[in-house]
Amino acid sequence: MKDSTPQPTRLADYQPYPFRIEKTDLTFRLDPKATRVLSRIRFHPNPARPGRHDLRMDGERLRLIAARIDGAPVTARPDETGLTIPADALPDGAFDFEAEVEIDPSANTALEGLYMSGGMYCTQCEAEGFRRITFYPDRPDVMAPFHVRIESDMPVLLSNGNPVAQGEGWAEWDDPWPKPSYLFALVAGDLVAVRDSFTTRSGRKVDLAIWVRAGDEDRCAYAMDSLKRAMKWDEDVYGREYDLDVFNIVAVDDFNMGAMENKGLNIFNSKLVLASPETATDADFERIESVIAHEYFHNWTGNRITCRDWFQLCLKEGLTVFRDQEFTKDMRSAPVKRIEDVLMLRARQFREDMGPLAHPVRPESYIEINNFYTATVYEKGAELIGMLKLLVGDEGYRRALDLYFERHDGQAATIEDWLKVFEDATGRDLAQFKRWYTDAGTPRLKVEEDWQPGDQGGTYTLTFTQHTPPTPGQDEKPPRVIPIAVGLLNPNGDEILPTTVLEMTEERQSFSFPGLATRPVPSILRGFSAPVVLERESSFDERTFLLAHDTDPFNRWEAGRSLARDVLLSMIRDDAAPSEPHAQALARLVTDDTLDPAFRALCLRLPSEDDLAQALADAGTTPEPERIHTVREGLATYLARQLQKDLVRIYEEMETPPPYSPDAASAGRRALRLAALGYLNRIDHGARAASLFASADNMTESAAALACLIDGGRGAREIAAFYERWKDNRLVIDKWFALQVAHAQPDMAAQVAARLAEHPDFEWKNPNRFRALMGALAANHAGFHHISGAAYRFYADWLIRLDPVNPQTTARMSAAFETWTRYDAERRAMIRAELGRIRQTPDLSRDTFEMVSRILAAEKA
Ligand SMILES: [Zn+2]
Repeated sequence: MKDSTPQPTRLADYQPYPFRIEKTDLTFRLDPKATRVLSRIRFHPNPARPGRHDLRMDGERLRLIAARIDGAPVTARPDETGLTIPADALPDGAFDFEAEVEIDPSANTALEGLYMSGGMYCTQCEAEGFRRITFYPDRPDVMAPFHVRIESDMPVLLSNGNPVAQGEGWAEWDDPWPKPSYLFALVAGDLVAVRDSFTTRSGRKVDLAIWVRAGDEDRCAYAMDSLKRAMKWDEDVYGREYDLDVFNIVAVDDFNMGAMENKGLNIFNSKLVLASPETATDADFERIESVIAHEYFHNWTGNRITCRDWFQLCLKEGLTVFRDQEFTKDMRSAPVKRIEDVLMLRARQFREDMGPLAHPVRPESYIEINNFYTATVYEKGAELIGMLKLLVGDEGYRRALDLYFERHDGQAATIEDWLKVFEDATGRDLAQFKRWYTDAGTPRLKVEEDWQPGDQGGTYTLTFTQHTPPTPGQDEKPPRVIPIAVGLLNPNGDEILPTTVLEMTEERQSFSFPGLATRPVPSILRGFSAPVVLERESSFDERTFLLAHDTDPFNRWEAGRSLARDVLLSMIRDDAAPSEPHAQALARLVTDDTLDPAFRALCLRLPSEDDLAQALADAGTTPEPERIHTVREGLATYLARQLQKDLVRIYEEMETPPPYSPDAASAGRRALRLAALGYLNRIDHGARAASLFASADNMTESAAALACLIDGGRGAREIAAFYERWKDNRLVIDKWFALQVAHAQPDMAAQVAARLAEHPDFEWKNPNRFRALMGALAANHAGFHHISGAAYRFYADWLIRLDPVNPQTTARMSAAFETWTRYDAERRAMIRAELGRIRQTPDLSRDTFEMVSRILAAEKA
């Protein structure tokens, strides 16, 4: 912190910028320590803001060399956050503003703006990084075509748009599509290209290139193939074509986020580009496919139509996440993808919604916008699109999207614009639906049932009651519209009502189904049709019935999941024994060869320790991390014994013959086989894991086998061998760090993490490496919350150390403490002390200050 408390920015204070930009010209004279940036910006008065206004531009950490207006020098003195030229120093009408500034990319460890990574220059401008490059109205509603000249002795010089000219030591790029500054990008380095091409359906030939360091070329094939499939899919499903002659992707080792959709020049964290069977897992391949698609899809949903202000971030992110999820469903298994997405939503977004960091999908205020790139904006934002689609139907959705692209192309839009498009295209009033954007919190949905027999058949009635608990700053929550997908089954297992969407709009509402021969078994919230918590007491028998018969794969999985959760909760709370009928139901499911192996693998996965802690806290019980860990381990070992014969058969049958292929079917077989291994490892003393580790020809099996060995307290030799083999591969060494901490015994986790933090390869300024170690510690629930408090202290020490170097990553990782009010007084006191220590750190960044303050505020609420 500097001297004053940082002030929030509020949605209610939005004003259009007083000027429009006709053209932005930039020249970069690159130098690691003293890069010169020359800008010429053609401003016009903005009719939306009549009158005379000062010219205020953002700028941080810039050394101003010279500034001119229409060629005449102006004396302007920058302050800490920008530069103001008074209205009376500006001509009437249009004018050119020119500036020359100097910046130091080599000193930029925050990785925002222009920085160096492994000897190359690269940029990250979203959300507010461009202000570290030059003085500019660094806000998304100011859009302009950019012309960029780069002067450097680096062999490869890239920017947005199309290449227009180049010579010895320079290159020029022109981007005809008006864009905000956050989509600006520049890369200069010693890179090689993996090239391909794509012809759009209207016949434009697009040159595709993935730029990597020499030696990495053979790990780009999957990313390139994913890109071409994404380009085709967006044409087929959304009618969207690519609009430049080139599309470039660059892989960068030092990157705060996953990837960035800069127009025509996407910049990627290298872990989301580089993959080979030996170095990447099936999960890595799937993630690469989805992130490549996500960033590509932004070309229309984000770039051609952008956000008016950062409060509207969900406009581009919620929609684009929804689009990439649909893409993955089409490329792979739709039910499996849906289950994976809901697992993630519950683990990250529900957790966020239930804690001190809860905020609406469209927040109302922020201190640091980087802190709002959250699961709520992204994942819940995507759920809202899914609900809209369900409410207006597939046809209505397509009409609305066509209208959205037609009406808002080239604009910076709002959530109001987005909803208006749906209203105009479908005639539906979405005033109530809008609450999903403005109100934080996860609604709870209670269900009551009634059955009235009758001569003409009986009537079955479902009554729903919705309630959303208070969240910070929002106590009262009016009812929302909730699409509830329901199906009904006969007691013999036949479906008598196929999936039907009920629209709940009241706080309490009933839906009746007359003319039924017998009382049905309901399957509620099929496909997870709304991001709510379903509160329904249902019997063990009903759940096993749905696990066996539900035609909706999501609810079938959900039935098994809730069975396992209930078994675990009663073991934790009441010292109950594991349930034999549960084990039998699970055995029937996982040996059902008609089911997709990937689906069966998901069914074998027990709820995580963090899920169980949340479930206990929800039910008013203080979670004890060690007990949760011991009980969950106990159930897993019990299931291993009960299902041993079946698991051995699965382990043998699901072996996939070489060569390795990352396709969904092969990955599903491996997932089921490795799920079986996870159980068998508990009773075979590591025999299978050791043998698989020795023979595996791919990272999926190799990493899973190593995890099993560490779980069993073995694997010292294998850990060393893994390191020796991969020590020159940064991405694999990230896994090496993460596995050892994530699978450490709870009482050893902090110690293992501390020992690894001393390792010469722990390059803590690299965000991937930092997250590998620290993220794994936070994810080791019983280890992180070990009663010694060692992990809390260690983690806080490292956040304090990282903050001055990289505030963005520090702030995000402080969310590991967001669940702290769940726990007992002793743990709360320890966490409070650590959070207090972080907040009192001199010169703490405003990013971390905001996060830690919000987390600490939970206790007063
Ligand atoms: Zn995105």
